Amino acid sequence: MNSETGRQRIDVDEAEALIRAHLPPRPITRVPLEHATGEILREAVVAERDQPPFDRVTMDGFALRHRAIASGRRRFTVIGTQAAGDPAMPVGADEACVWIMTGAALPADADTIVPVERTRRDGETITLEAGYVPVAGQFIHRAGSDHRAGSPLLAPGVRLGPPEMAVLTIGGHPDVAVASRPSIAVVSTGDELVEVGEPVTTFRIRSSNDRAVVAALAGAGFTRVARQRLPDDPVVLQRELGSLLAQHEVLVLSGGVSLGEFDHVPRTLAALGVQVVFHKVRQRPGMPFWFGTGPAGQPVFALPGNPVSTLVCLTRYVIPSLTASLGTAPRAQATRVPLAEAVTFEPDLCWFLPVVLHHGDDGSVRAEPRPTNTSGDFVALAGTDGFVELPRGGKAFAAGYPARFWRW
Ligand code: AMP
Ligand code: MG
Repeated sequence: MNSETGRQRIDVDEAEALIRAHLPPRPITRVPLEHATGEILREAVVAERDQPPFDRVTMDGFALRHRAIASGRRRFTVIGTQAAGDPAMPVGADEACVWIMTGAALPADADTIVPVERTRRDGETITLEAGYVPVAGQFIHRAGSDHRAGSPLLAPGVRLGPPEMAVLTIGGHPDVAVASRPSIAVVSTGDELVEVGEPVTTFRIRSSNDRAVVAALAGAGFTRVARQRLPDDPVVLQRELGSLLAQHEVLVLSGGVSLGEFDHVPRTLAALGVQVVFHKVRQRPGMPFWFGTGPAGQPVFALPGNPVSTLVCLTRYVIPSLTASLGTAPRAQATRVPLAEAVTFEPDLCWFLPVVLHHGDDGSVRAEPRPTNTSGDFVALAGTDGFVELPRGGKAFAAGYPARFWRW
């Protein structure tokens, strides 16, 4: 540990800022629209054409001239049928109309749509419903009334969810520039760890952290992930971590970063040329959190192995910083949720407290504390929504305290 030069025992905000400062923006890649869902847009998308591109009919009905109705006409001759996508068909005369569908282009010499349900049809003649008074220009979505060709539709930094995917098609391009996702190695270290499916003896445990880490990364759209389990053996660690550093752009390790006899991770990383940025954050759980950068600038997150600590550090630091490096538009404010009950915490540390959110019928939301037994008690996390961040030095937090909330 004496080879370390990074910051020691820093505060949560400083740890976050240091990580952000060491994660440069991810490169841009073009992907087909099929693969763009959930990605972060990295170009401005502008409208290919006016929207709507033509005067669009918004009801199935009859296109006609309003002046005919104004002069008392109630019966019209249907001179043709026009579907959406057809060229506009002229009406030609005041006594004529065109049977026209939603999405079709308004005939240039018509100005009003009478919905089919307000008419009675007899052969090629329609009669307007008695007493019905159509308004001039009704049921027409005017060309260019939503936006003009070239107007900005989407700004860089937006996440491409369902509405944005629909808007992208109006840009007219079959592919789109998004942030490339890094290739991530998820490594758990520990001689005691056993895979599901392998026999487990009394003093060994199943490796659960890597599963939770992979699940959390996948939930945030990071799916270029390789999972590996390594022993607490400095020789094997050095060989395998060296090879992972050569192959991956981000390393997320769990375990082996405390002060135990077999906590070889910081020394091994240092020997591999990983520069420590900080070690230990004034927080509970997750105090031994270690962060550095590899020879090629790769962020290396070495999380404490206690399962609650691993998941808290991943959610509080790793995922937000990786997401920010995709170029997401910064969120204006952190999500805050009032505590459902008062809590106290004596240690001079920031406290990450698991919670369940309760949504009231009046629109209110409250965070109900679900403290874990220890930072090893990850079973207690099942069913929680995330955790609240209670700042160092606060000690007593009243019911209603607006705590910063982090969702798993
Ligand atoms: P460490 O950070 O290596 O000192 O580990 C702290 C505690 O977390 C120990 O009880 C470990 O057995 C446990 N632990 C470490 N890695 C894992 C893992 N991948 N899955 C479940 N528990 C783990
Ligand atoms: Mg260990």
